[in-house]
Amino acid sequence: ATPTAAMVGTGIAAKNGILIKGADALERANKVRIVVFDKTGTLTKGRPAVTDHAVFSTEVAFEEFLHMAAAAEASSEHPLARAILAYARSCLRVGSSSLDLQSSLSGEVSDGENDEEEGLRNTAWICRAHDAEGLAGRGVKCWVEPAVPLAAVGLQPSTVRVLVGNRALMADEGVPVSREVADYMLEKEGQGATCVLVAIAQSVVGAFAIKDPLKPEAIGVVSALRHMGLACHIVTGDNWRTARIVAAQLGIINVQAEVLPAGKAEVVRALQQTHKVGVAMVGDGVNDSPALVQADVGIAIGSGTDIAVEAADYVLMRSDLEDVLTALDLSKKTFRRIY
Ligand code: ADP
Ligand code: MG
Repeated sequence: ATPTAAMVGTGIAAKNGILIKGADALERANKVRIVVFDKTGTLTKGRPAVTDHAVFSTEVAFEEFLHMAAAAEASSEHPLARAILAYARSCLRVGSSSLDLQSSLSGEVSDGENDEEEGLRNTAWICRAHDAEGLAGRGVKCWVEPAVPLAAVGLQPSTVRVLVGNRALMADEGVPVSREVADYMLEKEGQGATCVLVAIAQSVVGAFAIKDPLKPEAIGVVSALRHMGLACHIVTGDNWRTARIVAAQLGIINVQAEVLPAGKAEVVRALQQTHKVGVAMVGDGVNDSPALVQADVGIAIGSGTDIAVEAADYVLMRSDLEDVLTALDLSKKTFRRIY
């Protein structure tokens, strides 16, 4: 191999906002036969928005449920947390009737620049969370001092346990999921939404349904990869039902869902061992870092998190999936020229 050809390759890549760390990454990319995609933020836009909510308890007002969920999520950097904060803020700003709220929310809550992000986190939720713990692949667990309105109806404000997250979180904490809650989840997940449950004092009081649309180029990119003779897989921490719906939209049959961050690297390792071919991993999150390292070629997409960028062999500066094609194609062309 001539180092010069590889350098030309990396130079062309750089012009397309594709950073390649070293010529050997380019060479390994040439041997890739399986491409594993993270779902959230990689195949989807990573800008999830709340599309529906439900309150299951008659003891908790909608506003209070929102305040408590938001107080808990204010500590989290997760995109789902951001969606809940944005929803809570716009609901609480416009009024109290949930019907009015639904119609005044024009589908998506204003899209995030940094001030928006700051604003969301700094909103003075009427209740305060403390000792918040983020639980990877599950959600958030914290203590919350209930809102003033509780005191107004004669109840003493006292600190309660608040959990915001998925089924696994509720199971871990011994919180039962009623038939009513389970049915709500089945319905929303069947529509491709992710459900986030909110439990106050060991009882599920409400839920959010959150949708994260596919990137418009995703379908084309997956079919182009298939034409290049590459198999596409999805690995995600999200639930099975939502993951299968996204996969079906893309024509992908190989799906692993409800995978914890460490598990993503395991999935990659298993594919390498079973198929004895090069495996590429494409991801954007902190969660994806171990898998990006394990893969023969780790591709971090979007400005990404610093950790993902560090773990990757390729960094795609734009969040455009077409760049995955450019990157893999470039390696082929470069090496055709070399050998
Ligand atoms: P992905 O692999 O799709 O990027 P993650 O591993 O980040 O997903 O999260 C997996 C699941 O864990 C989410 O779908 C959600 O159910 C739950 N989860 C994680 N963090 C939070 C949070 N801050 N709030 C609510 N749910 C969360
Ligand atoms: Mg992700």
